[in-house]
Amino acid sequence: MPLTLTVLLGLAFGSFFNVCIHRIPRGLSLNRPGSRCPGCGSALRWYDNIPVLSYALLAGRCRTCRQPISLRYPIVELATCAVFVLHYLVFGPTGLFFVRVAFASALIVLFAIDLEHHLLPDRITLPGIIAGLAFSVVFPPGLRDAVIGVLAGGGVLWLIGEAYYRYSGHEGMGGGDVKMLAMIGAFLGWKLMLLTLVLSSFAGSTVGLAMIAARRGGMKHALPYGTFLALGALVASLVGDRIVSWYVGLY
Ligand SMILES: [Zn+2]
Repeated sequence: MPLTLTVLLGLAFGSFFNVCIHRIPRGLSLNRPGSRCPGCGSALRWYDNIPVLSYALLAGRCRTCRQPISLRYPIVELATCAVFVLHYLVFGPTGLFFVRVAFASALIVLFAIDLEHHLLPDRITLPGIIAGLAFSVVFPPGLRDAVIGVLAGGGVLWLIGEAYYRYSGHEGMGGGDVKMLAMIGAFLGWKLMLLTLVLSSFAGSTVGLAMIAARRGGMKHALPYGTFLALGALVASLVGDRIVSWYVGLY
């Protein structure tokens, strides 16, 4: 029964995250007006706003203007549902489940916005840093590790970005990446923040090299780094402790 509830909550929140993903980068309010077709602006009825199901029933087109609805909508809903279920399987019905689900929610929205707009809005990362620090008073990693995580996370990427800028004259890492890694440090602490950095750099360079090998353009056309940070942080949040203890056990 809790699992069914988690599935339904995941779908419902996924639907809300779609609103966030569409409106936050455009500077729009999240609560008004109600859901609209981005194509023609007509207000959606409740039965056209049911996660995944409505998209399928409408065959991916707006009821009014027949313009195609982005496949992002059902994908985000299903991905959110899967992420919520994974958290339930890992954390069970605990307080930490809610903390990490809140964290993962921010990661999902940041992933999608960065993918589309190459932007990691302060409206998510800055409150995220505060929330992560506040939760850490009661929950793992504890306030001390979280504060070090924020400072190290923000500092490390800022230094890399600054060094890259001095060396190449190009802005390598946006300020958004720095704030996002600080948020990751706030929620996960400095150890899992470093693991996130390793995982995301590895994933980023693998995909980057694959794209160069496939001659899909150079590094400039590579996916934005925030998408890899989001994926790395999600893995670190769910199984990071196990990865760290396995790695430490090797020596
Ligand atoms: Zn429409």
